[in-house]
Amino acid sequence: MDLYSGYINKLIEELGALPGIGSKSAQRLAFHLINMPQDRVKRLADTIVEAKANVRYCRECFTLTDKDVCPVCANQRRNHKMIMVVENTRDLAAYEKTGRYEGIYHVLHGAISPMLGIGPGDIKLKELMERLRGDVDEVIIATNSSLEGETTAMYISKMIKPTGIRVTRIASGVPVGGDLEYIDEVTLLRALEGRVEL
Ligand code: ZN
Repeated sequence: MDLYSGYINKLIEELGALPGIGSKSAQRLAFHLINMPQDRVKRLADTIVEAKANVRYCRECFTLTDKDVCPVCANQRRNHKMIMVVENTRDLAAYEKTGRYEGIYHVLHGAISPMLGIGPGDIKLKELMERLRGDVDEVIIATNSSLEGETTAMYISKMIKPTGIRVTRIASGVPVGGDLEYIDEVTLLRALEGRVEL
């Protein structure tokens, strides 16, 4: 039974396919969009298309950026011999917000999850190993404390050990399964300062 027009149904379907948007929210958003002035809808649509077309991976650390090399990697005052490995760009942003981390990053874009069929080849691990051929003193593993994050941390640690590069893991205190971006800056700093050797 079609309660709405085909266009609205399609809009609800597309919005409902986004993460965290249930069918009720999808309906609410769809009607909100339909009631918005034409120029605002166009601006929103253009913003999405432009972001998609222009955002890319940093050539060095693979974070999402508008440039070839992201501002962190391009900053020569940062310690380029210290690499913090994070699961995604949002985690990087969380550490950057503390303003206290001086090193650079490596963004994996995911974590190993046998349950979801995500293997080592599906995240940016090969790229990490390539970077470690350069001059690197320490790799700080800052993946989440979820099962996937821990599995990934173990895997990375085993991979790096033979190179002789120092490998550390941020201290626990980061809530289990908690996305790093939701954790306050003090907790993040404590986790970073209390990191342990692997
Ligand atoms: Zn970068």
